[in-house]
Amino acid sequence: MSATEHIVIVGGGTAGWLAALILGDAKSRPAGAPAPRITVIESSKFGTIGVGEGTTAVFRQMLQHFEINEEAFLAATGATIKYGIRHKDWRRLGHHYDGPIDDVEAVAGRGLDLYAVGAGKPVSDAHLFAHLMNRHRAPYAEVGGHRVAAGPFHHAYHFDQALAGKFLKTQAKHTALIDDQVTSVVRNPLSGNIIALQLESGATIEGDFFLDCTGFRRALIGEMGAEWLGYGETLPVNRAMPFWIDLEPGEEIDPFTLAWAQKSGWMWRIPTLGRYGCGYVYSDTHVSPEAAQAEIEAALGRKIEPRNDIKINAGRLRDAWINNCVAVGLASSFLEPLEATSIHGTIVQLLWLAQLRRSGNGRTQYNAAVAAQVDDFRDFVRMHYVSERDDSAFWRDVAASHPRIIRDRLDLWQTKLPERRDFAPVPGNLPHVQEQLYIPVLDGLGLLNPRDAKSQLAQDPKRRAALRKTHEDLIRDYKRAAGKCLPHRAWLQSLSQEKAA
Ligand SMILES: Cc1cc2nc3c(=O)[nH]c(=O)nc-3n(C[C@H](O)[C@H](O)[C@H](O)COP(=O)(O)OP(=O)(O)OC[C@H]3O[C@@H](n4cnc5c(N)ncnc54)[C@H](O)[C@@H]3O)c2cc1C
Repeated sequence: MSATEHIVIVGGGTAGWLAALILGDAKSRPAGAPAPRITVIESSKFGTIGVGEGTTAVFRQMLQHFEINEEAFLAATGATIKYGIRHKDWRRLGHHYDGPIDDVEAVAGRGLDLYAVGAGKPVSDAHLFAHLMNRHRAPYAEVGGHRVAAGPFHHAYHFDQALAGKFLKTQAKHTALIDDQVTSVVRNPLSGNIIALQLESGATIEGDFFLDCTGFRRALIGEMGAEWLGYGETLPVNRAMPFWIDLEPGEEIDPFTLAWAQKSGWMWRIPTLGRYGCGYVYSDTHVSPEAAQAEIEAALGRKIEPRNDIKINAGRLRDAWINNCVAVGLASSFLEPLEATSIHGTIVQLLWLAQLRRSGNGRTQYNAAVAAQVDDFRDFVRMHYVSERDDSAFWRDVAASHPRIIRDRLDLWQTKLPERRDFAPVPGNLPHVQEQLYIPVLDGLGLLNPRDAKSQLAQDPKRRAALRKTHEDLIRDYKRAAGKCLPHRAWLQSLSQEKAA
């Protein structure tokens, strides 16, 4: 390795620019260690994926970590606020439930969900984000000329990742950019490490550490003998048909992702300031692309123009880090975007990578952590398909094939509510899919056991009374707080106008 480490990142999508930001950050290296030299190689011949993406709260935490102004980010990218996901028609036709992402119990104390389930109330009622969702509000109120946050929780965003990538690019300091295509990978025959990349222009780029952020092309990791483990047995959809719908002038913007179950899969609808990014994610063993389009047009009551036809080969690499090459983003794993796990996973993986590189060679730990993370995403996504629906062959086939882990978890959670110790610990205590995300989904699907919750509470009437009071107080306070917040669209537009002024 040369005195100054040279990190070469191939790919200028969200994953590539997040990698440049996180690995270039002083906190990502041991105290006193020299800054690495970072080069990003992206090919303007290939676009980025760009379908209208939803994030998790980790994205906002990342902005704060890098001291990136949220309002500048929103104004530059036309992003909108996301408080959670509205799941429509998943349990049965005509039913919907919300999955707000604020972890209220972490702030207000454990037991609120138990109380709600025992009392037969939706657990989402006691979430600030549910009230902000319902009222289409910004996360801030205007008090005495100042913006005041509605609560202590991190919200998420919806954006067009091409614009978000462009913005992140402006934030990645000390990074050289090459617009070229990697055509081959030169490896040391003894160690197997990558020594250099050959580019279409004829140039050769040498480096010490390489990140493959080339999306589905897997231009580097594919050359390292990486093995793909498919999730086709567990996840029932394998195709995506993205399309756009324009926002109507003056139409209020939903501060939530709509995940709308259909006959052979589900549709996402993600608002940005100018339009909805939508798509039908479906099983092509149950419906042809033409029939899928007709089905979604009938559901929406309008014609659509599909922008693409994306094959979803859901799964992950067995090892995302091989020799001196790490695959991140779509190059490393992909599954249907039902819980916005992809960009979230990328950020968490890059933070792990930075930590483990700081402490020496953490390749084995890294690979194990990423494998467990993405497998957990898969199981969480699959849980959403435990439904009462039997109105199509797709739903009947899904119902007949729930994997063992899903059945075991459902059995366990008939006897108690999910809790942190049901999930393996996550390195670095970084955010992950655990009880705080499972409970609203299980509750919405009617998969929790009110009788059990009631009898647990009956054993401790004092606690039950205290929980009832906290629950009522929270609902009242959160309703009031949401009512004071600015309207979502008007607030977002004011940020763009401030930027233009
Ligand atoms: C249908 C669908 C819906 C999605 N919805 C969500 C969502 O709601 N939430 C979420 O978190 N994620 C979602 N994702 C995933 C999300 O889009 C990606 O995680 C994110 O955009 C990162 O993509 P990427 O940077 O890995 O790849 P890409 O965006 O594909 O970027 C790849 C980059 O590599 C470059 N490149 C490729 N080959 C070469 C080469 N040989 N030489 C040089 N450069 C090369 C390209 O030019 C490009 O810059 C969705 C994905 C799909 C397909």
